[in-house]
Formats: sequence, structure tokens, C-alpha cells
Amino acid sequence: MLQQTQVKTVIPYFNNFLKKIPNLQTLSKSNEKKVLKLWEGLGYYRRAKNLHKTSKILIKKYNGQIPNSFVKLKELPGIGDYTANILLALIYNQPRIALDGNVRRVLSRLFNTDTALAVNFFKTKRNGDLAEALMEFGALICKPQDPKCYKCEIRKMCSYYSSKSKFKSKRKIKIQFKNYDIFCYLKKNKKQIALTKNNDLGFLKKFNLPKIKASSKKVKNWKFLCNYKNSISNKKLNLNLYYKFSSKVPPKYNWYSLNNNKEFIPTFTKKIFKQISNLY
Ligand code: SF4
Repeated sequence: MLQQTQVKTVIPYFNNFLKKIPNLQTLSKSNEKKVLKLWEGLGYYRRAKNLHKTSKILIKKYNGQIPNSFVKLKELPGIGDYTANILLALIYNQPRIALDGNVRRVLSRLFNTDTALAVNFFKTKRNGDLAEALMEFGALICKPQDPKCYKCEIRKMCSYYSSKSKFKSKRKIKIQFKNYDIFCYLKKNKKQIALTKNNDLGFLKKFNLPKIKASSKKVKNWKFLCNYKNSISNKKLNLNLYYKFSSKVPPKYNWYSLNNNKEFIPTFTKKIFKQISNLY
């Protein structure tokens, strides 16, 4: 849940999730709709789907245990290098460091270079604590801007601290937005919108959405409502929202109430609901 999401946002979701699905066995037997409903509002729904699929594999293939091998962990849905490393460090105390942005920065500063090849530098029996501590240290002390070197316990061994010419990472984050047009069929006198799972989009594939297309300059027969920006997974989207009132919709569309709160609706679509609600 914490991937791309802040702790304070996650806490109520996490508590509620554990209340309804308290263990791996229950998760593996739950249906996907239930899991997605509990995830609703957190976004990045692939995480929930992968967690669910992984629970089934762990029960079936590993007797409910998390494998202690990097290779086997990486075969599980949604588990990449970072997650595999942190699981092995935290659960099996293996000497592994999970390289997130914070940890990369700490290592870069300690060794005053833009490389994170220094993972073997630390020797400890408490590998799980080390992996976790490096993340916290990067988030709270060795912060991206204005690191708190004056209270840093390891400044004597820090190259960044002792160096006259402080290293600056050459990495620049470029934010590139992709342009999409969203087309919403609406019922005039009811707060209803037609959605389809028939979208052939790489992201949010098979979720309930209006028609969405990569932006083109010519949009005929649709009324423009607004432009807004949205992020989904690692994509930044620049969205133009169009609508038309209609009682008929193309095949494979179904009507949904804009006040729908029973069925699972992804956050991306809920944001569309919010914009559309301004029309009524
Ligand atoms: S001395 Fe400063 S730059 Fe070096 S590790 Fe500590 S907080 Fe980070």
C-alpha cells in the first residue's frame, strides 16, 4: 500500500483491510472484487491485484510461507528487485539493501559519487534493521534538500560532508505529460454516466471508464467541459474532458450513477465523476 502513497493516507486503509482480511489464507480465498473495494481510493490498483494473486501462489506453492530466495520472490506478481531485497532483509535478515530514492541519496552522499555500488560497505548482524534504518535516515536526516548534517551521527565518515566540492546528482526529473481526451455519455435528467470495460488502454485496462483516446486536435459533436491533470501509476496525464447528453450508448457501455458507492470504481474514474457533477 505504501508504494507511491504516503503513510498517513495508508493507515486507515491498512487497518480496515486487516479487519476484513486478517491473514494470508483469507486473502487467498477472497474474491478480487472484495479486495479492490477495500483498496478503493488508494489508486494503483495493480498493487491490490498482484497482492491477491501472490497470496494464492504462496498458499498453493509455498505452504503460506514467503520464499527466502531472491529468484523465487521475483517470480511472484508485482515483486521486483526492491521488494525482493527488503523482504529478504526484514524477514530473513539477509544482507540486502533495498535501493529506493532515499537510500540511493544516502549512499551517494556517503561516498560522494552518483553510484550506489557501496551496498557492501556495511557489515552487521542486524541486516533487517540496517535496510529499514537507511530508508528512515534518508527520509528524516539525509533529506534531499538541506540534509541535517549538524545532527548526523555518521558525518565523520561522510564524503559529502567533508568534501569541499559537494557532489550534485546529475539526474534530472523530467515531468512529461501525455495528452488524452475523455468522452462521457451522460443522461440528462439523471446523474448517470455510461462506462465501459472495453477500453484498450495500457493503464486501467479492463476497469470501468468512459471512452478515452490519445488527444487529437479535432473533436466534433462533443462539448468541452474542462481540462485537468491526473497521475496514474508513473504516468502524468493531461486530460480534456468532453461530454454529451444521450439516452443511447454504443454496445458494451453500462449506466452508472455518479453517486455510486456500492461498486468498485477506480479513483481515476471517480475524479471524472467529480468533474461531471459540476454539470448537474
Ligand atoms: S553528514 Fe549530512 S550528507 Fe552526510 S550522511 Fe549525514 S546527513 Fe547525509
